[in-house]
Amino acid sequence: MFKLKILLLLVFANFTFSQNELALIPKPSEVKFSEGNFVLNKKTVIHADENSFEAKYLQRVIKEKTGLELKISSITKSKSKIYLGKTFDSNRESYSLTIDKYDVNIISNSYKGQFYGIQTFLQLIPSEKKESINLSCLNISDQPKYAWRGMHLDCSRHFFPKDFVKKYIDYLAMYKFNTFHWHLTDDQGWRIEIKKYPKLTEIGAWRNGSMIGRYDDKKFDDKRYGGFYTQEEIKEIIAYATERYITIVPEIEMPGHAIAALAAYPEYSCTGGPFEVGKIWGVYDDVFCPKDETFTFLENILTEVIDLFPSEYIHIGGDECPKTRWKVCPHCQKRMKDENLKDEHELQSYFIQRIEKFVNSKGRKIIGWDEILEGGLAPNAAVMSWRGTEGGIAAAKQKHFVVMSPGSHCYFDHYQVADPKNEPIAIGGFTSVEKVYSFNPTPKELSPEEAKYILGAQANVWSEYILSPEHIEYMIFPRMVALSEVLWGTSNSENYLDFKNRLVQHFKIYDKKGINYSKAILK
Ligand SMILES: [Zn+2]
Repeated sequence: MFKLKILLLLVFANFTFSQNELALIPKPSEVKFSEGNFVLNKKTVIHADENSFEAKYLQRVIKEKTGLELKISSITKSKSKIYLGKTFDSNRESYSLTIDKYDVNIISNSYKGQFYGIQTFLQLIPSEKKESINLSCLNISDQPKYAWRGMHLDCSRHFFPKDFVKKYIDYLAMYKFNTFHWHLTDDQGWRIEIKKYPKLTEIGAWRNGSMIGRYDDKKFDDKRYGGFYTQEEIKEIIAYATERYITIVPEIEMPGHAIAALAAYPEYSCTGGPFEVGKIWGVYDDVFCPKDETFTFLENILTEVIDLFPSEYIHIGGDECPKTRWKVCPHCQKRMKDENLKDEHELQSYFIQRIEKFVNSKGRKIIGWDEILEGGLAPNAAVMSWRGTEGGIAAAKQKHFVVMSPGSHCYFDHYQVADPKNEPIAIGGFTSVEKVYSFNPTPKELSPEEAKYILGAQANVWSEYILSPEHIEYMIFPRMVALSEVLWGTSNSENYLDFKNRLVQHFKIYDKKGINYSKAILK
């Protein structure tokens, strides 16, 4: 009886262990187990170029997780190796990870793929101080489905310091996201230093009070609030993201959500101001006036932005632009007459097309919120569909690239539980982990040909009600993790329980790392 008990315990321990091993998120496309174990211990050598970022990253995270300090060497006779290999140069994101008795081989034809292989391997290693770790032999071959795997962060409504932005980028890297949409300007604060227009940050980055509590309470404090990123800090963040194969897409809002900029430079509005940086959340009637001087101003700003950010896409906002001022502004009305525009929606389209021409002339493309469809889409623009998926469907049918980000599944400023009375105040809505996991970025309405225009999806993290980095973590963990598997293309909403079982094991990592996450799925 005693022996049987021991045997059962052993079997159970083994079973738990292999369950742990399979807690990979996003789930790889293909996993095959084979006989035997690889033993990771202090004798294991990382077989790679000593200067390789990837090798050093692997070395650092293994040390953080287990305490083991592995050597990196380009020439090694060690019998226990983790080999990082690159076969030839390409931009492909695929990789293979093979664990044999004596070797781990992480092979890709790009450093990016190699980095994803490293992320998968790291998830196989338990976060506990140990001198020797057994890893089951296996073979994984893996690649993502979607090219745009994004997370957004609003740093205007509340400002998040440089070090947290880097942490955020690390979180994205852990789950193989490749795009960080950085919302840098809005009514409540301009957050990017522009050398030619210093008042944008001297004045535009600071507001004299913020809303407190719920919007309907209409209560404010009178504290000066703000902050901005210098160009040096932005370069540092871009370099940090680039090492982790994450493209930062900066967003400079126009023609709406512009009060912070207009508080600094009221001459580019319809009325001439004066204005103050927004204290109230929402949409403001005062927006950029489409006169020539305004275009010069915005083009000079975009020139500095493009010089900083290497991304293919520059996000120009384009959402929530009331036409109130334009309807009565002599400049706007004259522009409409001169350009033969039949209404203010066409004027908005004119605005975006003119900016697009400029951005294209610099070798880049624009992406904007789905309102840029109104009055006619700019010829090369990509569309970010946030008011449902309809805008994205319309754009794909017009052969424009689309990033899906519908409020229903991708707004992480929503509540994550049905009854939010014990939750911190959120903007509203209800988007559970399960809901995120059920998302399909490619709508059924599209033909296979049209579906090719769906680049992928992203979640948006608007920060009106999110004041601290810890609260941002709470809103993204673990919903972001569910989205990572959707974007990798291996989610199956009928198998949510399988995902949930793997996810719960990741909570141990968050506990170790001190990440503040929502435990809503455990209730
Ligand atoms: Zn005007």
